[in-house]
Parts: sequence; C-alpha cells; structure tokens
Amino acid sequence: KGPDPDLVAIAERMATVKHKILVLSGKGGVGKSTFSAQLSFALAAMDFQVGLLDIDICGPSIPKMLGLEGQDIHQSNLGWSPIYVESNLGVMSIGFMLPHPDEAVIWRGPRKNGIIKQFLKDVYWGELDFLVVDAPPGTSDEHISIVQFLQATGIDGAIIVTTPQQVSLIDVRKEVSFCKKVGINVLGVVENMSGLSQPLSDFQFKRMTKNGEEDLTEWVMGCLKEKAPEVLNLIACSDVFDSSGGGAAKMCSEMGVPFLGKVPLDPQLCKAAEEGRSCFSDNKCGVSAPSLKRIIEKL
Ligand code: ADP
Repeated sequence: KGPDPDLVAIAERMATVKHKILVLSGKGGVGKSTFSAQLSFALAAMDFQVGLLDIDICGPSIPKMLGLEGQDIHQSNLGWSPIYVESNLGVMSIGFMLPHPDEAVIWRGPRKNGIIKQFLKDVYWGELDFLVVDAPPGTSDEHISIVQFLQATGIDGAIIVTTPQQVSLIDVRKEVSFCKKVGINVLGVVENMSGLSQPLSDFQFKRMTKNGEEDLTEWVMGCLKEKAPEVLNLIACSDVFDSSGGGAAKMCSEMGVPFLGKVPLDPQLCKAAEEGRSCFSDNKCGVSAPSLKRIIEKL
C-alpha cells in the first residue's frame, strides 16, 4: 500500500510554510480567537508572511475579528485563495463558506475531518513564515484531524489560552495532556482576562435604588475633577475571575510548561476585535496591547 495521497498533497502544500502554530483552549469564550487574530496582526506588522487558518468550524469568529465578514473565497488554478487583510496576512475560515453568518454548522466528525483536510490540501498560501491555526475549544475531532494531518510536516507547537479561575484551568490541564500524548510541544500558556484594567475615567458609577439603577457618573466625575483630578488618570484594576488558586502561572509550573504571561480584560481590546482591527496599530488598547506584545516577543 502506497502513501496516503491526501497526506502527500498536504505535505506538498505545507512545504512552503516555515512555522505552524496551533492556538488552543480548554473552554470557549476565553479569548483564543482574539489571541490568534492579534498574534497574526502582530507577526504581519513584523513583516513576516502570515496565514491564519480558522478551523473552529462550529463558531468561526475569525472573519469578523479580521474585518472580513461577508467575503467570498475565490478559486484559481493554484487552489482556494485566502482572503488578504494585508498583502502579508491571508485568512481562511469556514465562515467564508457559509451563505449566512447566522447559519449553524451541524456536522459530524467525518465531515469536519473532510473540510480540515481540504483546507490543508487546497488552500494556496504560497510562501509563509507562519501559519497560525485557530482551533475549536477542547480536544475533539478537529484537534485529532489537524494533528494527524500536520504532524508529518511538523508542528512547531501549541499556545494555550485560558482565564485565571480553576474551572478554566482544569480544562487546560486536559489540553496540556492532549499535547503531550500526541507529541506536540506546548509553547506556553497565556492567562487572558486576568483582571479588569481600565482608566478610571472610563468607568460608570451607579446606585441601586428601589426603582432600579441611578446613574451617578456625572456627579462622581465632577467631584473627582474638582477635588483630585490626577486620580482620573489612574488605571483602575479589579480581579474579575478568582485567581486565588495561583492562576495559570502555578498550573504551568506544576505541569512543566512555560507560562507566557497575563493579558487583562480591556474593553478596548474587545472593541478592536468587534471592529476587526489590530490592537497594536494605535494607542487605544493601552492596557492590553503591551502585555500581548510582551507575550508574542517571548515566542
Ligand atoms: P474564544 O475564541 O476562546 O471562544 P473569543 O476570542 O471569541 O474567545 O473571545 C470571547 C469574547 O471576549 C470576544 O468578544 C472577545 O473580543 C472578548 N475578549 C477576549 N479577550 C479579551 C480581553 N482581554 N479583554 C476584553 N475582551 C476580550
């Protein structure tokens, strides 16, 4: 029996890709796609040739986070063409193939397996320095497929995104053990939504009354401006999720994997993701962009 022709085709496509990085998470909603999107923007800003492949088949959020909603994939004689955000940042997602963004994708394992295989076999990326793969949460069919298809061509490693609380970290441990079982190097763990950090002047102040809420923002801001204006320039921080168990850093040292750093909850980062923008291109994400940059520079 000869070699599997699909694996041969994948190996040919991947021969022009220098580094492949998987972005994983134990749970959904922890910021995995946000991290994948911002990592891709950052690498492209460093003048690398970057591809971002979204295999989160049931919840593809990459098209929106890259500002590419409603785009259609084109085919040429070289294969499916990624959609380009910039000349050195191409994106491929199942989201581009759905007739309507509200459409639910209800596929069983073999069909998911099939589309991942097709993405790897048929997308013409050209020469890439980095292929960033945004995987779905957990360890399911898609993970087994991507590992099985890519392993022969080499995967540089996985970055795992989590929030600080135990409920999320328990699932990260499973993710780390999945990587160890299938022989994927864990590049490190990112603790996202690690406390809320926001300039005090962006907060709203409310009082709960019998009839509901009363907005006191104007009054509080007026008092501060008059009595202590310098306070308005401070960044207010609050632990939203419980990190008393030591958070991701402790888990990393217990499991012997690198801890890459913390990214705070930053409403401006959420806004950048909603608008499909890089958080590095202006100074709006002042509380999250520097932490993300430090993490990316460690890789
Ligand atoms: P996942 O891919 O893990 O399901 P997402 O990246 O889609 O999670 O993030 C879920 C939501 O949280 C998105 O609206 C995203 O913009 C927002 N988000 C993620 N990380 C942060 C952060 N550090 N600060 C503010 N909002 C964030």
